[in-house]
Amino acid sequence: MDQSLPSGLYIVATPIGNLGDITIRAAETLRRVDRILAEDKRVTAKLLAHLGATAPMTAYHDHSDDALRARTLAELGTQAVALVSDAGTPLISDPGYKLVRAARAAGYAVHTLPGPCAAIAALTLAGLPTDRFLFLGFLPAKAKARADAIAEVASLRASLVFYESGARLGESLAALATGLGARDAAVVREISKLYEEAVTGSLGELAARYADAPPRGEIVIVVGPPGERAEASDEEIDAALRDALSRTTTSRAAAEIAVSLGIPKKRAYARALALGEGA
Ligand code: SAM
Repeated sequence: MDQSLPSGLYIVATPIGNLGDITIRAAETLRRVDRILAEDKRVTAKLLAHLGATAPMTAYHDHSDDALRARTLAELGTQAVALVSDAGTPLISDPGYKLVRAARAAGYAVHTLPGPCAAIAALTLAGLPTDRFLFLGFLPAKAKARADAIAEVASLRASLVFYESGARLGESLAALATGLGARDAAVVREISKLYEEAVTGSLGELAARYADAPPRGEIVIVVGPPGERAEASDEEIDAALRDALSRTTTSRAAAEIAVSLGIPKKRAYARALALGEGA
């Protein structure tokens, strides 16, 4: 039988796909705590069964009522309580910060057990600069709010990291291409699972690729900083224009490609006319 732990709050990162990614300390801690606060008890039950951990679970969200938070806080004085989310690091686009803040304010011990985090794992796969990055979580669903959120960070000299769902990937990439122009980016999918992949290209290319082909699984978008990309070649412009011209007018195609490849509209328009004449 594992010995119980000193009282306090233990923030425990769990796997984002491959169960083998649980750390030794996380597994031991989950076996030794007195209670586990879980985002979704059914999801966490599977992990606990895999680890042979039997502590009782309580559902916890930052919008859980004040009475539950007060009860949980009171327990931290006498019990070891773990906080886990469905997958990855708690508090990162997941519940927990209100509990950590309250636990600290009440003077209880708070420990963190670092481990898997999709944002960090995606940065390691994308092949884009990692010296400065900004994690932005999920973009807003509504077009105006999404465009505003993108405009707010457009001038930052840093890589940008977003969480996204397959269903919304195409429109988010299109909004990023419009708002940020020609930047290198990566769509990183299913990290640590069977179909893990990182698809790289310009934002415009990726937006075109996923426009009508929403991929399955869990996704992170990484966008490189401005000014990293070499000027687009005539061949790259022509390929993008051919695709756009099959959908829209010459003028609109030129405007779209000027934004997505970050070239002057005059150059895009001249190439579009030349393509039209050659047809
Ligand atoms: N706290 C988690 C973490 O540390 O990564 C993130 C929780 S957030 C609610 C869930 C989002 O993380 C998913 O919609 C997806 O964007 C991303 N994600 C989680 N697991 C992933 C995986 N295996 N591959 C790619 N993205 C993943």
